[in-house]
Amino acid sequence: MRDIVAPESARFRRFTEVFGEVVEPAGYRQIIPPMMEDLGVFTRLGDATDIVTKEMYDFVDKGGRHVALRPEQTASVCRAYVELRPLTPWKTWYSGPNFRYEKPQRGRFRQFDQVGIEVLGADDPYLDVEVIALAWEFYRRLGLRQVQLLVNSLGEPDDRARYVDALRRHFEAAGDALSEQSRETLNKNPLRVLDSKRREDAPIIADAPTIDQFRSDAAAAHFATVRSGLDDLAIPFVIDMRLVRGLDYYRRTTFEFQGGTLDSAQNALGGGGRYDGLVEDLGGPPTSGIGFALGVDRTLLACSDERVFAAPDDAIDVFVVDTTGGREALLITSDLRAAGISADRAYENRSMKAQMKAADRSGATFAVIIGPDELTSGTAIVRPLRGESEQGTVARADLIFDLTTRFPGRT
Ligand code: AMP
Repeated sequence: MRDIVAPESARFRRFTEVFGEVVEPAGYRQIIPPMMEDLGVFTRLGDATDIVTKEMYDFVDKGGRHVALRPEQTASVCRAYVELRPLTPWKTWYSGPNFRYEKPQRGRFRQFDQVGIEVLGADDPYLDVEVIALAWEFYRRLGLRQVQLLVNSLGEPDDRARYVDALRRHFEAAGDALSEQSRETLNKNPLRVLDSKRREDAPIIADAPTIDQFRSDAAAAHFATVRSGLDDLAIPFVIDMRLVRGLDYYRRTTFEFQGGTLDSAQNALGGGGRYDGLVEDLGGPPTSGIGFALGVDRTLLACSDERVFAAPDDAIDVFVVDTTGGREALLITSDLRAAGISADRAYENRSMKAQMKAADRSGATFAVIIGPDELTSGTAIVRPLRGESEQGTVARADLIFDLTTRFPGRT
């Protein structure tokens, strides 16, 4: 687990802000779920899911409750829905860390952040399009250009079940030609074998039956509307019939966004889909759901690779150098901050030279200098550290006003 420090921390914060700016105007409102839940909230995601069976940070608390740090937030949103029974459609967005006991590498961490949305209680293919379009718009706002959208439909639960049977038969027929890992996966969830990146599995996967042969008319019609809606919004996509995604609950639409610059094992920037049954399993009424989660860390890596969405400029406006004891610096920085101008200062009454060095290092646009002469004469020196303007002496009484005119639009 890492520390995220400036300037990357500012980038993280801005990332979440931009996400809110994209989804709030579409009617999504923020939910801040707890970071820990009863273990049962997550085990309902399915025992064929690695994030539940292998990667969970779960423990027994001092009250004897078996709890877990959340590995994702969809289950928490559904649990909250069951408790709060809000009006539907319930459109939520979230951000924050999740925890998975995975092998850390570039783009994969044990604590990682996601932003996401979930909509509960509406089963309309145009909602699927809206949800996908919001993620697409978010990538556009970040400036990412090399994102590819993959879509698929897993059909209705019955279609999916028949497909899973056909897959099982197909992979079982391959016998030992299938990798040992995939044979193990096959026992738990034949769909996940399609995700195998092992070379020996590739030809067997290529010959596997595809979901389109199993979709019911209703599921096929839903998918057709989703595709035509994406076309209407001019959002490019690729149909990937192998896209099954992790959770057992997914049905009908699934989608994933892949970055063009990352290693193939870590190139999924985010993904989501329709899910049913989760709310019901948590004690609520039958409720359809759809949503996505986007990985913050990985998306920021993609932004760095594409040289977009740089950390915001965090340089200070004014650095106050005070060699008369520090009280002037206290008053001036306080007044400047109140006037909307960012201000920093040196401490411990250091020498003029040491304080000027700190001023340079701060990246400030101006230094304000108060020495014994200025204190006596009631003046201050304003020295530009960047840019073209000239150094000047200003009456102490006019100093704050003088500086506000140099930063128009701050107050
Ligand atoms: P998932 O919840 O598994 O569908 O993941 C959604 C997105 O979260 C992925 O596409 C990644 O961008 C991100 N993600 C998932 N697991 C990790 C991890 N261990 N470290 C960093 N990002 C992750």
